[in-house]
Amino acid sequence: MTNSFHPPQRTLMGPGPSDVSPRVLAAMARPTIGHLDPEFIRMMDEVKSMLQYAFKTDSPLTMPISAPGSAGMEACFVNLVEPGDKVIVCQNGVFGGRMKENVERFGGQAIMVEDDWGKPVDPAKVTAAFAANSDVKLLAFVHAETSTGVMSDAKQLCQIARDNGALTIVDTVTSLGGSELDVAGWGIDAVYSGTQKCLSCPPGISPISFSEKAVAAIEKRETKTPSWFLDQKLVMGYWGAGAKRAYHHTAPVNSLYAFHESLVMLEEEGLENAWARHQLHHNALRAGLEAMGIGFLVEQQYRLPQLNSVMIPTGVDEAEVRRRLLADYNLEIGAGLGALAGKVWRIGLMGAACNKQNVLLCLSALENTLAAMGADIRTGKAIAAAESAYS
Ligand SMILES: *Cc1c(COP(=O)(O)O)cnc(C)c1O
Repeated sequence: MTNSFHPPQRTLMGPGPSDVSPRVLAAMARPTIGHLDPEFIRMMDEVKSMLQYAFKTDSPLTMPISAPGSAGMEACFVNLVEPGDKVIVCQNGVFGGRMKENVERFGGQAIMVEDDWGKPVDPAKVTAAFAANSDVKLLAFVHAETSTGVMSDAKQLCQIARDNGALTIVDTVTSLGGSELDVAGWGIDAVYSGTQKCLSCPPGISPISFSEKAVAAIEKRETKTPSWFLDQKLVMGYWGAGAKRAYHHTAPVNSLYAFHESLVMLEEEGLENAWARHQLHHNALRAGLEAMGIGFLVEQQYRLPQLNSVMIPTGVDEAEVRRRLLADYNLEIGAGLGALAGKVWRIGLMGAACNKQNVLLCLSALENTLAAMGADIRTGKAIAAAESAYS
């Protein structure tokens, strides 16, 4: 006989998933009802309107996809890219590379604009790419690059696309709920996100939103969208305004209860307050780390508050540090990805995990562990530095 699975109680300060609030977990345990039940449909309408609030858009084509953030990414590309379309793809980390894959798999031509990992997308390079290529249909970039901890200027990049008559696809998986995002105000045409980063919900749902211009482009397609599951025209029959809620697929009922609850919590806190909270705790974490002598990968003005890429002190076995944090403190932090593997740790301050208790736990756990391993850090200063950032 196999026993029930009881996971350990961790503190999740990596690149996601982040800690899920007990309120959200409790919502998930409520009774499953039919996905066409009138009460479920009432809840879906509330999810849609709270999601419009979170994204700052009133687009009716705003809804959660029943799959993780990567499916939201794919939904944007599969609906908007047709064979032969030119797409400028900005890459300054892992996720831009996946955008390129998406473009190419759907028959598009990816025109790459590359920046170093740890640097934001350079708007001048994007302008130059438009100047060098005619008939570009789309500009795609990552707002908050979780692999490096960098924020790019989405507002300016969208303006460049608009000036060149192109639509935009923007990855906001890590920015939504954690830093300023204004989908309508910045003129983003297709946006996707995830639930398990700054919304602090279990993974597996991807909110998306399309502008009127994006919908028009989807309607003008000459070829059928090559994915049945992600074809927005079909999904709208279930999620659309005034739609007859025809069966498309069985919605993940309980996961959507959880998502609903996390959006209720975001509304209660207020979007701007949530952004400010991420900044506040980032400031305290930074003060503590710097007092220890640990520096950041990214220049201060481009740093994401919710994802801190910090330099590993020289000579330290970084995997052993993470193993000890998990074993001794139940604390998870992230390793570096790709080109940054072995060079940085990624410390997340996302959603419900972004609080003072976690900042202090992380600083003391890291300090104790590094000191015990003989790392070259300053001890006895970090907590006081964080406390003074709070006062
Ligand atoms: C996490 C993440 C994704 C992928 O989301 P999944 O839910 O893991 O599929 C995409 N883009 C960015 C920037 C992310 O941080």
